[in-house]
Amino acid sequence: MTAAHRILVLNSGSSSVKYQLLDMRDSSRLAVGLVERIGEETSRLVHSPLAGDGGKRERTGPIADHEAALKAVADELASDGLGLDSPELAAIGHRVVHGGLKFSAPTVITDEVLKEIERLVPVAPLHNPANITGIRTARALRPDLPQVAVFDTAFHTTMPESAARYAIDIETADAHRIRRYGFHGTSHAFVSRETAKLLGKDPSEVNVIVLHLGNGASASAVRGGECVETSMGLTPLEGLVMGTRSGDIDPAVTFHLKRVAGMSTDEIDVLLNKKSGLVGLCGDNDMREIRRRIDEGDQRALLAFEIYIHRLKKYIGAYYAVLGRVDAVVFTAGVGENAAPVRAAAIAGLEELGLAVDADLNAVRADSARLISPEYARVAVAVVPTDEELEIARQTYALVNA
Ligand code: ADP
Repeated sequence: MTAAHRILVLNSGSSSVKYQLLDMRDSSRLAVGLVERIGEETSRLVHSPLAGDGGKRERTGPIADHEAALKAVADELASDGLGLDSPELAAIGHRVVHGGLKFSAPTVITDEVLKEIERLVPVAPLHNPANITGIRTARALRPDLPQVAVFDTAFHTTMPESAARYAIDIETADAHRIRRYGFHGTSHAFVSRETAKLLGKDPSEVNVIVLHLGNGASASAVRGGECVETSMGLTPLEGLVMGTRSGDIDPAVTFHLKRVAGMSTDEIDVLLNKKSGLVGLCGDNDMREIRRRIDEGDQRALLAFEIYIHRLKKYIGAYYAVLGRVDAVVFTAGVGENAAPVRAAAIAGLEELGLAVDADLNAVRADSARLISPEYARVAVAVVPTDEELEIARQTYALVNA
């Protein structure tokens, strides 16, 4: 165990950097913030020191690139006495979206590892380049400090081939590394473990269906702590109905859009990733707004909600069959943690599977992990807030202290 006990978690997107500084002695947050619209005139940095009594600070004005962004973050941290040069900083943990088949665990970043993450750009063109930029910039700032990559795909590498492979020509698939990788793995790992804790069991003893319902959404089936199936695939487009993504669709729809509707590949990509899901069905992707419209009698919002719930229910049933025995179904992320009507509707009618939701427990608003199933139910239904940054920090800290 080193004396250094702070971990900086960085989540670098194409035009943003989100960060949190944690004290791993008690998992507390020392500071959180984000830089957005990097490369534009109207870049914005919002920094909240959480130790002491300093308030939120905001800066607007051009921040040219990720290097400038990270330097600005370092300055903010330094002015709170939490600078990147502090001997108390143990490591930086980077969220990396795609780790392919190679990375099944958090990994200390070396030149070789960085090269390998670059090799994965063709399968994650939207995400890995930004993650790589974040890593390069942070390494340039603190070359001596251990930096760790924590991959969104890692938790899913335990999926058996029967779940991970698409039934397409196997040589074509292998030549282009086409398979189901799954995403949100850090959240599925954290939430499935916290669910076992809530049940008073070891993760190895429980089978859990995790429903991560944010703007992006994915389900996973976790047997004894290991992921055996998840709903996202080669990319985060597969699976559940999401805020703006279609989720599952007959692949022939894309040929049809090309041949009959005359759309280009890029236009179809944008349609399915950005203009589909809830927003495509009813014009809104925020579940609060959709519920409000339903309460006013809006039929399109109702249809969007029903399609969303139907897909969710299909996945609960499918994953129940995959697992054979289920100890808990757990809801997490923005929608899962907050939208009681979604939880009630997804579980409604599943009593024969041992699943039920207690209306009063479901209506309680809380920030902590809790059960919402009635005492008599055979299978627990739970709400467990996800915390991907804490999970990245834990994995990073464990690795540098190993
Ligand atoms: P992501 O990390 O994928 O961007 P989040 O997990 O933060 O998303 O979830 C964001 C979504 O959560 C919003 O789009 C909204 O639909 C939903 N959400 C947030 N708060 C509530 C709430 N109080 N009631 C219903 N839905 C909510």
